[in-house]
Amino acid sequence: MSEQPAQVLVVEDEAAIADTVLYALRSEGHAAEHCALGRLALERVRAGGIDVVVLDVGLPDLGGFEVCRQLRTFSQVPVIFLTARNDEFDRVLGLELGADDYVGKPFSPRELVARVRARLRRPAQALPAEAGWVLQGAFAIDREGRRVRYREALLDLTRYEYALLAALLQRPGAILSRAQLMERGWDHASDSADRTVDTHVKTLRAKLRAAGAEDDPIRTHRGVGYALDV
Ligand code: CA
Repeated sequence: MSEQPAQVLVVEDEAAIADTVLYALRSEGHAAEHCALGRLALERVRAGGIDVVVLDVGLPDLGGFEVCRQLRTFSQVPVIFLTARNDEFDRVLGLELGADDYVGKPFSPRELVARVRARLRRPAQALPAEAGWVLQGAFAIDREGRRVRYREALLDLTRYEYALLAALLQRPGAILSRAQLMERGWDHASDSADRTVDTHVKTLRAKLRAAGAEDDPIRTHRGVGYALDV
């Protein structure tokens, strides 16, 4: 994250504000992208690769608070709220919903960029030694929070990627068939095919690589399934 430009998602329905924010972020060397609807923001974060979300509270479809609440069911990506209403209640509610920071409108683009930078520098969450985290080799898993760290880095996983990894971490080294993996991670196994598992394994591998895995910890056993080296 320190060497690659950060990918910032700006969720804001007012074009003028969005443009100002995007311009400020890009001039700092970040790769900023924009969407104007909460629903689209959720889809975009789910697709992966977002390092920070700048989230307007007043959006035309889902409100920013609702977006944040839904986001936290599958992602720990840092969220910075943008809000016109500068009162304490909103601030507290936002933080309770899992936001990481808060910038009140009107704000200076410089201030916002500084907050984004601060989120990128800070480790996303507390250390694995904290309650809830179980260390397994280079991995640490918090099953209640549905979170996984690899070499200290919190992985931004989709629901299925998390399910796959959690299943593999239950029995490190054991080979699990695609059907077994699907059974553990999918609500409706019949809706999916073997290829679905392969697709999620592929994106999971890319995320592990991005988190510093030199040798792929997920081993493919042709015709049988997958196993995880911790
Ligand atoms: Ca707005």
